[in-house]
Amino acid sequence: MNRKKSNKESNDPSPQGLDQKKELYRIMYLFAGIFLLMCGYLSYFLIFESRTVINNPYNLRQENLGKKIVRGPILSADGEVLAETLVTEDGTESRYYPYKELFAHVVGYSQNGRTGIEAKYNFELLTSDIPIYEKIYREFTDRKKPGNQVVTTLSLKLQQTAYEAMKDRRGAVVVLEPSTGKLLAMVSKPGFNPNEIVEKWEELTSGDSVLLNRASQGLYPPGSTFKIVTALEFMRENPAAMEDFNYKCNGIFSYQNAEIRCYNGKSHGNLDFTGAFAKSCNGAFAQIGTMLSIPNFSALCESLLFNADLPFPLAYQKSSFALTKDAPNWEILQTAIGQGKTEISPLHNALIVASIANGGILMKPYVVSEIRTAYGNTIKQYLPSVYDRLMTVEEAAALTKYMTACVTDGTGYAVLSNQYTAAGKTGTAEWDEKKKSHAWFVGFAPAENPKLVVSIILEESGTGSDNAAPIAKKLFDAYDELQR
Ligand SMILES: [Zn+2]
Repeated sequence: MNRKKSNKESNDPSPQGLDQKKELYRIMYLFAGIFLLMCGYLSYFLIFESRTVINNPYNLRQENLGKKIVRGPILSADGEVLAETLVTEDGTESRYYPYKELFAHVVGYSQNGRTGIEAKYNFELLTSDIPIYEKIYREFTDRKKPGNQVVTTLSLKLQQTAYEAMKDRRGAVVVLEPSTGKLLAMVSKPGFNPNEIVEKWEELTSGDSVLLNRASQGLYPPGSTFKIVTALEFMRENPAAMEDFNYKCNGIFSYQNAEIRCYNGKSHGNLDFTGAFAKSCNGAFAQIGTMLSIPNFSALCESLLFNADLPFPLAYQKSSFALTKDAPNWEILQTAIGQGKTEISPLHNALIVASIANGGILMKPYVVSEIRTAYGNTIKQYLPSVYDRLMTVEEAAALTKYMTACVTDGTGYAVLSNQYTAAGKTGTAEWDEKKKSHAWFVGFAPAENPKLVVSIILEESGTGSDNAAPIAKKLFDAYDELQR
């Protein structure tokens, strides 16, 4: 009886029982349907939509991504971790920079605002391309997803070499590979420890512009490194006159009401063009300045990216060339030797030299080579690309010849090596009568097959020959060692 009753209850054939069952199934189907739709939408969003919805750097969504994704690491070209997010057992996250000051400006920071690679590649660091099933699993179990890895073009060895060679002097070093545009090293001093960005914020933002990346955001008079540009303009206007060029230097060049002195007022004697360039004779170049067409000179400078945007992914300042047709004589003479109102960033100077080293073609500089998933699978590669031809093959070859002479027979002697050839130009930029000059060196090695371009400035450090050129030598030596 009991069994019968229970059977009767569970299989109630009455119209009322059937209705209840239908109702139950309806609700079940409804919930199953909603669940499937949610799964479907979530998968669709994760696969297709999220990228377009989030891919706006000013979107608040980027901030919210941090709640779902553990910011990915930034790696050097050789696989060293330059920035990573550490997570404690209770889930507290902190951004950690194992090399402290070494990569501070180029890698940047991501608290109290963002700079450097941390700013430019914020979206990639806060995107996770782990497999979709793992994404869904983590979404439902309320666990954060690991962000993508950003792999840079930076070399630990070259960055360390530049950093150590600068010692505690202010300034910047930029190292590029001219055939690809890869940024191999970028140092700015004074530096800061990005691990302390929050604690020391007050101190870091007061006074000394410690956070400024002098390599791309610092503007300086180019001094005699600008003779490269003056030489190029002279060559373009007087291709036939280069062979016969002669200048007799007595230490001072006078032109109407203006005059220019050679370094320490020293006479260079009789010079051909190569000699004038190699020995960095101010008199010869000031005289050349008086022979140039200012509109053409100005147009050349603009084609070399003065007063223009640079093809560079991180923050920078535009260089400026301000010489006009009605400029006074003193300004024409000063501009021809890299003084006057002209200002350039170390990065821009490196780009001009890179185009010379690469047969006239400037490759777009880049600092990130790959985006990888948290498990190391490549999902995006950044390949070398041409920016533009800045000069002819012949012009690049002629400038290389003069710059090689500067190392073998001129002011760039500190770079001379018996292991490799090198080309370069020194600069000693005056900027304040009462203070020491800024020391410059720009150049590349090997001269006939350039692998490395360097641009170095040391603020208030004296001559380029004695102070900046030796750093170039250390960088070329370090690169040479890496190839062995
Ligand atoms: Zn001279």
